[in-house]
Order: sequence, then structure tokens, then C-alpha cells
Amino acid sequence: MATFIVLLGPPGVGKGTQARILAEHLKLAHISSGDLFRENLKGQTELGRLAQTYMNKGELVPDDVTIAMIRERLTRPDCKAGAILDGFPRTTAQADALEKMLKEFGGKVDKVPYVTAPEKVLVERLSGRWTCRAQGHVYHDKNNPPKQAMVCDIDGSELYQRDDDKSETVVRRIQVYLEQTAPLIAYYRSRGTLVEIDGTQNIEKVTKAFMSALEK
Ligand code: AMP
Repeated sequence: MATFIVLLGPPGVGKGTQARILAEHLKLAHISSGDLFRENLKGQTELGRLAQTYMNKGELVPDDVTIAMIRERLTRPDCKAGAILDGFPRTTAQADALEKMLKEFGGKVDKVPYVTAPEKVLVERLSGRWTCRAQGHVYHDKNNPPKQAMVCDIDGSELYQRDDDKSETVVRRIQVYLEQTAPLIAYYRSRGTLVEIDGTQNIEKVTKAFMSALEK
């Protein structure tokens, strides 16, 4: 049976970094809704243009288009064994839609690691974050610097600062998380799938915490 893991937590807590490590380790697909929107933006699709108007303000893209995008992604062959969902769901409507979709595909949300860190840490991480143009690998100027400044260690592409990692937008993104996404903590806790993880530790320690939480 396929395994589906939802990573829950505020922007900047390290979901993307951990999702990549875990997906590789567990041989599951990595589905990042933010990366999918950014790919659409780069490809100048209609969806990309629509998403950009929300992303630039730190707001959520409407549920219907987001759900349709994820549904399409989940039907691709690399999701046969399951997936790590990073950034989706972000609203109760999205979580309900995911539950229905997975039921249809013969699966369910197996575990929901919920990663936390104080707001001060999130702001510091987002404002020091650098993202690779080619594949979205992430770095931090203090906590996880690239070997060569402005160049991705993995694929050699240029690193840039995301528009929505600028300080005005960061504050709004955290607010939107608290209003619209934080209710999912109770949602998944009531289903018995939530496991809490301290996201203030370094990358290796957080990965270890994830692995032991997922083995339980
Ligand atoms: P992220 O890369 O996860 O920080 O997402 C960047 C931006 O993409 C968010 O601030 C939203 O504007 C949009 N986005 C990503 N995932 C979702 C989602 N599940 N629902 C709505 N908007 C999303």
C-alpha cells in the first residue's frame, strides 16, 4: 500500500529541506505545492500567472486551482509508492479534498509530522534563505551556506532570493499560516496521525527526529 506523509508547519520551519531528504531516503515522490506554482510561473502558464498574484502578497492561491494541480500531480507514475506532501494541504477544504482523493486512489494520509519553531526563528530563516533557480534547492546564508556563494552545490544553478521571502511578505505569510493553516493541527491530531517535531534544531537533528517519528 502506498504511503502518504503530510508535512505541516509554518513557512521557514524547514519543511522543504526535510521533505527532499525524506523523499530520497524513503523512495517517495516529493510534492511541493509552492515549487509547482513556481514551475508554472517560470513556464509562464495561465496557472503560473494566476498564482503569482497571490504569492507576491503572501496570500494563498484559491483552493479549487490548488486542489486540481495536486490531483494531477498525484496521478503521475512516481506517486505509485506514495508521496511526501510539502505545503499542501494549507486549508481545511484542501485537507478534506486530499482525504477524498487518496481514498479514490486507495490510500490515506498515514502520518503528519508537525514541525514547530518560534516566529523569531522563522523570520530569521526566511530572510536569510537563498533558493536555486533550476530545482528549488534551499540554502541559508548562516545555517546552511552553499560551498560557493550564489551557486547551488547540487546543480550549479544561480541562487536567488524569492520575492515572497522579503520581510514585508514574510510577516503576512506567517499571519496567513496562523489563520488558515494552523487549524489543521487539530484536524490531524483528532485523526491520530499528528507527530510533533522540534524544528529549532539543526538539519541533521531534525531529520533524525523525523525518522524516529515516522518509524513509530
Ligand atoms: P511555499 O513555497 O510552500 O512557501 O509556497 C509559496 C506560496 O505559494 C504560498 O505563499 C502561497 O501563495 C502559494 N501556495 C503554496 N502552497 C499552497 C497551498 N497549498 N494553497 C494555497 N496556496 C499555496
